[in-house]
Amino acid sequence: YEAKRTPGLSVQAYRNAGHQGHERLLKIEHKLGDAVLDGKIVPFFQPMVDSQTLQVAGVECLARWQDEDMGTIYPDEFIPLAEATGLIVDLGYQILDKALEVGSRLNANEGVEVYFSVNISPIQLFEEAFVGNVEQLIKHHQFPVHLLKLEVTESLFMGGDIQARETLMRLRKLGVQIALDDFGTGYAALAVLRDACLDVLKIDKSFVSAMTPGNLDQILVKQIVEMAHAMNLKVVAEGVETQEHQDFLQSIGCDYSQGYLWSRPVAEATFCGWLRDKMGAER
Ligand code: C2E
Ligand code: MG
Ligand code: MG
Ligand code: MG
Repeated sequence: YEAKRTPGLSVQAYRNAGHQGHERLLKIEHKLGDAVLDGKIVPFFQPMVDSQTLQVAGVECLARWQDEDMGTIYPDEFIPLAEATGLIVDLGYQILDKALEVGSRLNANEGVEVYFSVNISPIQLFEEAFVGNVEQLIKHHQFPVHLLKLEVTESLFMGGDIQARETLMRLRKLGVQIALDDFGTGYAALAVLRDACLDVLKIDKSFVSAMTPGNLDQILVKQIVEMAHAMNLKVVAEGVETQEHQDFLQSIGCDYSQGYLWSRPVAEATFCGWLRDKMGAER
């Protein structure tokens, strides 16, 4: 079970991560290859709202696997496994392809000008052809490149590799924006901020959803926003669950707000309907 995997990538870590039962895990592992081949894993969509105007400014694409007998399977259960097996490369292109397709359609047909944010695993970024393939997909869908954001995590920079930075620079040359996801939970956070070329900082939801008046999480969030702005980065707060969170984020000038307060990640049709209603109401 462990031995056949790509060396250096941790199936063991995945197994240890507290997943529900060995049986479910084995099933997921058994089915993942076919699910990717058959295109069963698709993006769901969660809006990001401009904290000041409260209008929809962007959307994050989050992978969901709808299985006939297991129901919805969430990324925490299959992304680490997809990374450990290399399937993440194919899966990642599928998610990006679908995101750009939906984004292009909304943009062309309904004049929707919102960011599409797609999560990228380090393994994808280190693939030789990645930047070229991203460029092709953007062209193929005629997606407005300035509306594409790729979300990476600090783990990308572990080991002080300069290749990651170069790849990000090439992506930015295309006009793609780079967001650092889950900020505050990783390692060497400040060195990454200093050296990586970034456009957006996403504050990890563990800080945001824990904010209460005057507590340490609130103080940290406020300081992160200030620091990010001083570095010319836009800031997204993820995990915004209550109106109190939102009011605070607005008061400190946080740029974007994402969380269950606005919407859970929903399927394509639901999202497009929701957006249509919302935009109709705003016009
Ligand atoms: P992430 O990129 O940090 O995405 C945010 C996660 O927080 C999502 O979990 C989202 O559903 C959840 N979330 C959003 N608002 C709230 C809230 O108000 N409260 C709480 N408690 N949670 C909220 P999800 O969809 O389960 O995804 C988990 C992680 O899996 C993502 O974290 C991302 O790292 C990874 N992931 C998801 N889709 C992809 C993908 O297509 N490719 C790659 N490489 N990774 C993905
Ligand atoms: Mg993300
Ligand atoms: Mg995040
Ligand atoms: Mg996360």
